[in-house]
Amino acid sequence: MSAEIETALRQKVQPEAFTLYERIRDRGPLSLEDLCEKGDGTASHWRRLLYELQDTGAIAPARIVRERRTYYVFRVTTRTFFEREAKTADAETARLEAELADIEGHQYYSCSVCGLRQRFEEAYAFDFHCGRCDKALSYVEPTNVVATLRARIAAAKSLARATWAKFASSPVVRLDQPPVPRTTHRQQSR
Ligand SMILES: [Zn+2]
Repeated sequence: MSAEIETALRQKVQPEAFTLYERIRDRGPLSLEDLCEKGDGTASHWRRLLYELQDTGAIAPARIVRERRTYYVFRVTTRTFFEREAKTADAETARLEAELADIEGHQYYSCSVCGLRQRFEEAYAFDFHCGRCDKALSYVEPTNVVATLRARIAAAKSLARATWAKFASSPVVRLDQPPVPRTTHRQQSR
């Protein structure tokens, strides 16, 4: 699943942000302070890249309290990434369903000369004649548009379902807990 995220991420973020993602993936959680300490960029530069990655859900901040000091480390996670993708797919489904309801709920008329398409109310106001070329408008059979939309809705729904399944099978990361050091984690998983 992480290979899939990386392919998607390359399309979504600028190359510098992707390089930072790889760095966090390979070296483990990093804080803004860690990045600045290396001296190869300003805080605002790193903050911008971290924010860009966090906005995709590919990394998430974990709050660490150590010796009464609170700071955040960022780590890679598949869960928030798929959650965000699934919500996007849900929103697309809802948008298409609203479009379908609009088409099914209205009658459309079109001009065979210029292609102007108008709702019943608009066409009625001009006595069912085209406002541009004065040609009589004809009723549009919604069947084709509806069929196309239904197919797109089905595709959007199935994408949403598949993405929610990926979200559900992603490991839960307790973001309020300090990350387990990578070496210890490997030993534990053996
Ligand atoms: Zn016309």
